[in-house]
Amino acid sequence: MLHDKNNERLEELIAPTYGSEYTSKILPKYKMAETNMPARDAYRMVHDELMLDGNSRQNLATFCTTFVEPEVQQLMTDCVDKNMIDKDEYPQTAEIENRCVHILADLWNSPDAETTLGCSTTGSSEAAMLGGMALKWKWREKMKAAGKPTDKPNMICGPVQICWHKFARYWDIELREIPMEGDRLIMTAEEVIKRCDENTIGVVPTLGVTFTGQYEPVKEVSDALDKFQEETGIDIPIHVDGASGAFIAPFIQADLEWDFRLPRVKSINASGHKFGLAPLGVGWALWRSKDDLPEDLIFNVNYLGGNMPTFALNFSRPGGEIVAQYYNFIRLGKTGYREVHTSCQEIAKYLADEISKMEPFEIIYNGEGGILAMCWKFKDGQKYNFTLYDFADRLRSRGWLVPAYSMPAHREDLVIQRILVRHGMSMDLADLLLEDMRRALEHFDVHPVQVPLSEEEAGGFKH
Ligand SMILES: *Cc1c(COP(=O)(O)O)cnc(C)c1O
Repeated sequence: MLHDKNNERLEELIAPTYGSEYTSKILPKYKMAETNMPARDAYRMVHDELMLDGNSRQNLATFCTTFVEPEVQQLMTDCVDKNMIDKDEYPQTAEIENRCVHILADLWNSPDAETTLGCSTTGSSEAAMLGGMALKWKWREKMKAAGKPTDKPNMICGPVQICWHKFARYWDIELREIPMEGDRLIMTAEEVIKRCDENTIGVVPTLGVTFTGQYEPVKEVSDALDKFQEETGIDIPIHVDGASGAFIAPFIQADLEWDFRLPRVKSINASGHKFGLAPLGVGWALWRSKDDLPEDLIFNVNYLGGNMPTFALNFSRPGGEIVAQYYNFIRLGKTGYREVHTSCQEIAKYLADEISKMEPFEIIYNGEGGILAMCWKFKDGQKYNFTLYDFADRLRSRGWLVPAYSMPAHREDLVIQRILVRHGMSMDLADLLLEDMRRALEHFDVHPVQVPLSEEEAGGFKH
C-alpha cells in the first residue's frame, strides 16, 4: 500500500508537463472541480488560457500601463499581502501613499502642497466619483445657506468618459454634456457659459478627451467663469478630469495653466495606471484645500496616533500599485517622466506624419498639445472599398489592436481610428506597425471588402 502511494507520487513528479493525468483533461468551466490538482498543472493550464488574451504591448487602444520594469514586478510581489486601508498594520504603505499625494499636489501647483488633501483610488473612475460628490455636497451647502431648493443639480462637461455618466446617474445630476459640432470635438468656454446657472455644481473639463486625446481649454473656461461670476454673482467651481493629462502636462507642457494655478480649479483626478506609469489599479483625487472637501465626506481614522482623514468608496484594496507609483516618482523623477513622455510624443508625431502620407487618411490629432496619442479618419468626400473597421480587423491579424469607433453626439457619423503611444513603444515597433498598415492597404487594393461606400457610410464630414 505504502509502496503504491510512493509510486504514484513519483509518477506525478516525473510526468511530462503536458501529458500528465491533469493536462490530459478538459478543465471544469462553470462548476468547481470536485478534487484538487497539483499546483504545477493548475498554473500551466491557467497560464496557457491567458495566452489567448493576446499581447498587451500591441494593444494600442488602451491608455493603461502595459510595460513595467522588473523592479516594479518585484515590488508588486513584495506587496501582495498589503492592504492599503489597514493603516495601522501597514503604516509605511500609508506613509508612501501620503507622500504621493503631496508630490502630486506640488506637481499640480497647489498653493499649499504640504496641507493638500487627497487620496489614492482604484483609478480615475473612483476619483471622479469622489470629486463629483464633493462638488455636489458643496453646492448643496451653499444653496441651503441661501434658502434655495437643492433638487435640480446639474453639471457641465464636454464629451466625457463614461465614469461621468455613471456619476450623474448614481447621484441624480443632470449632465449638460456639450455635444460635438462639425470640427469642434471638445468643449469651448462659450458653450460652457451658455449652460451655466445657479444649479450648476461644477464644470468638468477633460485634460485629454478619451475620443481624440485633445485637451479641453481649462484656463479659457476658468476665465469665462470669472466673468460669469462678475455678471451674475454665481460662483461655479471646476474639477479637472486629468485622467491622462495630469500625468503628462506637468512634464512636457509645463506652461499650460490647467491646474491649481487657477484658483477656480478645486479638485483634480488622475489615473496613476495611465501616464503615471504605475501598474493597473491606482488613481488619485486631490483637492485644492481642506475647504473644498466637505467635512462630512471625510471619515477620520486615528489608528496612526495622528489623524488620518480617509475618503474612498472601497475599503480593502491592494497597496502594491501605490508603492509602485512612489517607486516611479523616485526612479524617474521629473527628468525621467519628461524623457519617457517626450519619446512617446515623438513616436506619435512620426506615426501621424507617416499615416498622413497614406492615401485614404487624414489626421485629426497628431500628438501635439494633448495626450500621447494620435488619430485619423478617412479623407472627406472620398469613397473607399473598405471601412476603418475592416482596417482594424486586418491589423488584428498581426496582433495590433487599433480600434475604430464612432464619435458621440452630434458627430455619430464620424468614424475615427486612434493610437495611444505608451511607455514600452519604440520607434522601431512603430515602424513595424506602419509596415503592417501599408500591407493592409495593399491587401484591400487587391481584395476589396465591398463596393465603394457612400460618403456618409465612409465617415465623411456632414456639414
Ligand atoms: C481612463 C479615463 C477615465 C477612467 O479612468 P480609470 O482609471 O480607467 O478608472 C476617466 N476619464 C478619462 C478622461 C479617462 O481617460
